[in-house]
Amino acid sequence: MTEADVDGWNRSEDVAHNQSLDRAVLTDGGEDVSGGSTADRGGSNSDASPSDAVLPDDLPASKDKFLVWLTECWQCGERTPVVWPKGGHLDGPIGGVLAEHDTPVERVYSKTMGKRVWGNVCQHCDSYQGNFFVQQEAVKLNPPSAECPECGEAHDWRPDQGMGGAFDQGWITCPEYGGEIPVSDPRQ
Ligand SMILES: [Zn+2]
Ligand SMILES: [Zn+2]
Repeated sequence: MTEADVDGWNRSEDVAHNQSLDRAVLTDGGEDVSGGSTADRGGSNSDASPSDAVLPDDLPASKDKFLVWLTECWQCGERTPVVWPKGGHLDGPIGGVLAEHDTPVERVYSKTMGKRVWGNVCQHCDSYQGNFFVQQEAVKLNPPSAECPECGEAHDWRPDQGMGGAFDQGWITCPEYGGEIPVSDPRQ
């Protein structure tokens, strides 16, 4: 018996242990989902491409124009699908179109805005998933690119997490410059 043999044996035991943990987690998730209203949508356990399951085929717009993902509901903590138009905003005519079809989008009252808006609601508890938060997630998933004032190339843009975000201020990271550069929202 060499030391290497012992190490190898220990490692393989660790791997087997981790795999059984993973399986246990997956099984728990499956049971959660089947208890909810997602059972008839099928495939709700897969994060890969939920857009087909969430957006109906009769939607009068290309599914490519939308981002669809699962978010964690701030109210009940369950994972629920949300929809956001790529490079746009949900609270406009497109929100009305989505709400006419079988999507998570409904007319809701936004306390932040003090008015009714088009927004995503949780399929488990019906809570409004705030447009500001959902838009932040959409930008993370599909960042717009902005022209770099240092090198002239396009880099991924992200909104400022503080006050600047409210004024369309954000940042890009330039590898050539070696740091962050403030750039205003390229979509404005
Ligand atoms: Zn919820
Ligand atoms: Zn650059």
